[in-house]
Amino acid sequence: MTSAEAPAPRRIRPLGAFVANQIAAGEVVERPASIVKELVENSLDAGARDIRVDVEQAGVRRVRVADDGDGILQDDLRLAVARHATSKIVSPGDLAAVATLGFRGEALASAASVSRLSITSRHRAADHAWRLEVEGGEERACRPAAHPQGTTVEVADLFYNTPARRKFLKTERTELVHIEQVVRRVALAHPAVGFSLRAGSRSLDGLAPADVDERMAAVLGAAFVERSVAVDETGADLRLWGRVAVPTYSDSRPTRQYLFVNGRPVRDPLAAHAVRQAYRDVLFHGRHPAFALFLELEPEFVDVNVHPTKDEVRFRRSRDVHDFLFGKLAKALRDLRPAPGGESRSGADEATPRRDRHGFRRTAHPANLARMFDEVRDERPSASYAPDAPVPHATEAHGSHHAPGNGLQPRDAPAVPPLGHALAQLHGVYVLAQNAEGLVIVDMHAAHERITYERMKTQLLAGSVRRQRLLVPVALDVAQAEADFVEARGAELQALGVVIERNGATSVAVREAPALLGGADIEALARDLIADCVEFGASDIVRERQERLLAGAACHASARAGRRLTLPEMDALLRDMENTENAGQCNHGRPTFVALPMAALDGLFLRGQ
Ligand code: ADP
Ligand code: MG
Repeated sequence: MTSAEAPAPRRIRPLGAFVANQIAAGEVVERPASIVKELVENSLDAGARDIRVDVEQAGVRRVRVADDGDGILQDDLRLAVARHATSKIVSPGDLAAVATLGFRGEALASAASVSRLSITSRHRAADHAWRLEVEGGEERACRPAAHPQGTTVEVADLFYNTPARRKFLKTERTELVHIEQVVRRVALAHPAVGFSLRAGSRSLDGLAPADVDERMAAVLGAAFVERSVAVDETGADLRLWGRVAVPTYSDSRPTRQYLFVNGRPVRDPLAAHAVRQAYRDVLFHGRHPAFALFLELEPEFVDVNVHPTKDEVRFRRSRDVHDFLFGKLAKALRDLRPAPGGESRSGADEATPRRDRHGFRRTAHPANLARMFDEVRDERPSASYAPDAPVPHATEAHGSHHAPGNGLQPRDAPAVPPLGHALAQLHGVYVLAQNAEGLVIVDMHAAHERITYERMKTQLLAGSVRRQRLLVPVALDVAQAEADFVEARGAELQALGVVIERNGATSVAVREAPALLGGADIEALARDLIADCVEFGASDIVRERQERLLAGAACHASARAGRRLTLPEMDALLRDMENTENAGQCNHGRPTFVALPMAALDGLFLRGQ
């Protein structure tokens, strides 16, 4: 075409079936692991009890999934690989309450369009099997075959007809990691189903039919089950169950985090945020909690048809889901206190080199951390271990002190409290105590810091936030909607600790700010607060910042290392730890105490061996 000619008008044409299929397949089939996921989900939907996955060349050469499910009727075989053909839903109404993993009727069609695919299946009502072969979406053959009840789908030469997509695949090693991750994730949600994964000479074991804890141990490690708390909570329309690791058992990367919504593995930023919030107080910065959580709710409250890969969901009442998750997990973590009787728990981090250096093996199993010590919660310290700096409300503990034998003491109170009685102080740093099982070593400063922090926080939550008048009001330019909000809802902001007034169409002035935050950056605080309130209708910012500040203050206010404590002071510290939420670790996520049962000490001296 010469430059003098006008360009020919571009006309609209329907895409050819091949291009259309390629585009659609691109959404579902990203890599071999996507094929594994879709095939395994189909097997589960067909009621399989045993699912075998075999891959060659990390699934690029071949993925084969064999199951013992219901199978497919001969007449339905062709439909199985047709786009938008499914046996799982019929009407738009069904879409609102999907009970199966699949429902879009496009996975097999997508896989078939970018590979050489075969399905061999024997329906439970049929007397023999049929095998359908498809290449690049075109049927090649359909003939009788030998196969027990169930289905085997083979996807070979993935992306053979789309070399460009093939180039995007990563190394075999990486693709295999993705495949393993898919199998583990699905296996976690279906403990009663046996899974196997073979990749050449490698195989993933331990996935025989099991109960929930056994399966969790197989997927997340036995230590996870030992060092996690079982959660099972029911709300108005929600149930949350599963396990969350104790804060001292954390990862440097968020690798062991599993969330299922109605049995479907999902990635959900909202839920992730709720979990992070729950751990906020107790996890060392930069560490990631391990958890396997199952959220169950009526299907009509959650939209699963958000993305072709079905690993995102949308909650109808997302705020409620967030608050439920956060509330229940925070409670489960708060309940972690020094354990009673035989179940004493070490606060030592698995990753702490100190433990290895001394060769300590933890022999105490915190198998049931949730069953914590309700009997002694009312027992209050009989002496105060007044620290160097004053602690707000440090004396409140005396209010409910029960003298032994005054009739208020629970009858079955243990003779020796969980953290035992103080014996001595070691170099002004550690308190040594004897409990029923053996020796308890307490990091005095870390323990005191946690207790102070929890007290300050309680005080903070109890009262409204104390405000301080600014000498010079801070003026801010904001969006009109934000200024409107400030004008209409000033009282709510005031309850959060900030007095703001409207100055003009798009400007406001901060007159009072939370006293606790002192000289903090008022302008940034007010901006975030207003933006949060306008967007979410509520804000945690003031509380979050106050808590962060409290943590710092608690650290300074707490008994310094090197300070000498009397035995009654030490005992008081131990009793306070038993009565304090999160007493197992300091505000920075370090353990506050380590328990060494006699058996562990005997081990050090090679006794009884
Ligand atoms: P969807 O799972 O969304 O229905 P698919 O393309 O994954 O769509 O599968 C299409 C249909 O093929 C399913 O609805 C099901 O009837 C049948 N099917 C696929 N895999 C199996 C299997 N392993 N066992 C029994 N039926 C299967
Ligand atoms: Mg499917």
